Amino acid sequence: MDNCIFCKIARGEIPSKKIYEDEEILGFHDINPQAPVHFMLMPKKHIASLADATMEDAGMLGRLLALSGRLAREQGSPDGYRTIINTGRIGRQDVMHLHVHVIGGSEPLGRMLPK
Ligand code: 5GP
Ligand code: ZN
Repeated sequence: MDNCIFCKIARGEIPSKKIYEDEEILGFHDINPQAPVHFMLMPKKHIASLADATMEDAGMLGRLLALSGRLAREQGSPDGYRTIINTGRIGRQDVMHLHVHVIGGSEPLGRMLPK
């Protein structure tokens, strides 16, 4: 996808602070962190959102989540973290390339949603 900002990051055309890379997955710091630890895990392949994933993507999605714990510990969130996948208009997704936010730090986060 020529104009997708996260595809450009995956191709190395836009710089990012990478924390993990393999053939199918890239992990990198969010440019506007919402907590002391805030990085993203995404497939290098363009999938617009979680709503566009298919059963063919199930392995990759599992590997994304399975990586999150080790990477969160490495990044300074030793005692848990929050994963968020904003999806589509209702989920207020801004960048239309599927990504998992991993957010944490050494102190508990705020509530997931305002009461
Ligand atoms: P969304 O609302 O789509 O779930 O989140 C998009 C996230 O991407 C935001 O947290 C935003 O800070 C981050 N972001 C947007 N552009 C860039 C960029 O060029 N580089 C990095 N590292 N993060 C970005
Ligand atoms: Zn993309």
